Amino acid sequence: MNMSGLVCFLRRSLLQLECRIIQATGLDGPFDPALSVYGPNILPQTQEGKEETTETSFLDNVFWMAAPKKRRTIEINRTRRRAPESMIKVKTNIEPCVQCGHLKQKHILCGFCYEKIRKETAMIRGQINVMEGGPLKTPAQETIVLYDGESPGEADQNKRIVERNRKRPSWFNIY
Ligand SMILES: [Zn+2]
Repeated sequence: MNMSGLVCFLRRSLLQLECRIIQATGLDGPFDPALSVYGPNILPQTQEGKEETTETSFLDNVFWMAAPKKRRTIEINRTRRRAPESMIKVKTNIEPCVQCGHLKQKHILCGFCYEKIRKETAMIRGQINVMEGGPLKTPAQETIVLYDGESPGEADQNKRIVERNRKRPSWFNIY
């Protein structure tokens, strides 16, 4: 069946359907498109054998959320918001960083020192990328980083060596 044949068939079927609806219901055609709503049936259904209601409301398909029944006054809201347990606690475990002197929490890494090391390691990664031309060509070796004035020791013979042409920063340790 080609395309125009299919369209003819659909039109004919639609006309037959309209005729049957007019015969069965006594309503007048032609019928316009109307909105039909379909949603999950969350609300409990009436059991069979009990009273059967044929009337269905569009609210049957609405999922009702919990909502406050009464307005809470601003005094009650502020009492809750400004209660001691909802205030931010005052921190007493703050001390200066040993390396750079910025304030930090005792059990937490210093953010300023971490940022310096992060930038240095990013530059080392960029240098490795230039040396080897991509991450897929990485040799299966341990890597050491040598700065100006440093030479590999006896234990570093079979390791991959990345040479940085600058002085080793005091905060960038070997281990
Ligand atoms: Zn620091």
